[in-house]
Amino acid sequence: NALLSVRNLTVRYPGHTRTSAPVLAVDRASFDVSAGETLALIGPSGCGKSSTAAAVLMLRRPDGGEVRFGGRELTTLDEKALRSVRPAVQPVFQDPYGSLSPRLPVRDAVAEPLRVQGRWDPVAGPRRVAELLETVRLDPRLGERLPHELSGGQCQRVGIARALASEPRLLVLDEPVSALDPSVRAGVLNLLRDLQERLGLAYLFICHDLPLVRHFAHRVAVMDSARIVETLPAGALYTSG
Ligand code: ADP
Ligand code: ADP
Repeated sequence: NALLSVRNLTVRYPGHTRTSAPVLAVDRASFDVSAGETLALIGPSGCGKSSTAAAVLMLRRPDGGEVRFGGRELTTLDEKALRSVRPAVQPVFQDPYGSLSPRLPVRDAVAEPLRVQGRWDPVAGPRRVAELLETVRLDPRLGERLPHELSGGQCQRVGIARALASEPRLLVLDEPVSALDPSVRAGVLNLLRDLQERLGLAYLFICHDLPLVRHFAHRVAVMDSARIVETLPAGALYTSG
């Protein structure tokens, strides 16, 4: 009983011009992710990782196959039902500044999901934001700052706090440390690992760094030319690192 169960996922884009052929971005991909588990999705650029992530994040309706999350089949849900499921599946992107609004103090970025989901309370809300910043090991006083006043690593922690505000069960981590200074990567990865243990989070982890995948993931799905060609335990992944 996986938390996320993807079967024969197919994603197609129309051709760039009227006469060009459609692009088959994901071709019948199948994989599972259990609660508390990290599945890495690896493969060359253009193989379909982001398109897979977009379908899992409910940003794009698949052209075929099934996406089952927490026992519910998502591909047949209407927009209203999807809105109730989306908080449970949250993204963390590569660019730590890209997902934050440059003019918004970071405490407001963390508060936004609470407001949007109608869970904002004038007393409990600010407390919850401070608690979320502490959860990602940031001084809550940093909440006053704007994104450009924080380091990349601090901003990535804000992005994680914002994702946690929705009380997710699955995070889709799209190259979450590759834009960060090497000296702060380990801290963010340790944080993610602690959060996984503490909250039982599942991770779908898109990553190019094979030694890191072997170290951080439990299992690996290898994509090539829109297909998942192999799924194996991370320890079985051959790397020179
Ligand atoms: P990856 O994340 O592994 O780099 P993507 O899922 O981004 O792969 O892309 C898979 C394929 O789909 C590529 O051939 C890419 O050019 C194509 N593609 C991605 N997004 C679009 C789009 N919006 N319109 C047309 N083709 C797209
Ligand atoms: P269109 O280009 O026709 O708008 P999209 O692929 O952008 O199609 O998505 C259309 C609708 O499908 C969106 O309203 C979105 O909420 C919904 N949707 C996206 N992902 C999923 C999914 N995994 N399962 C079900 N519905 C989805």
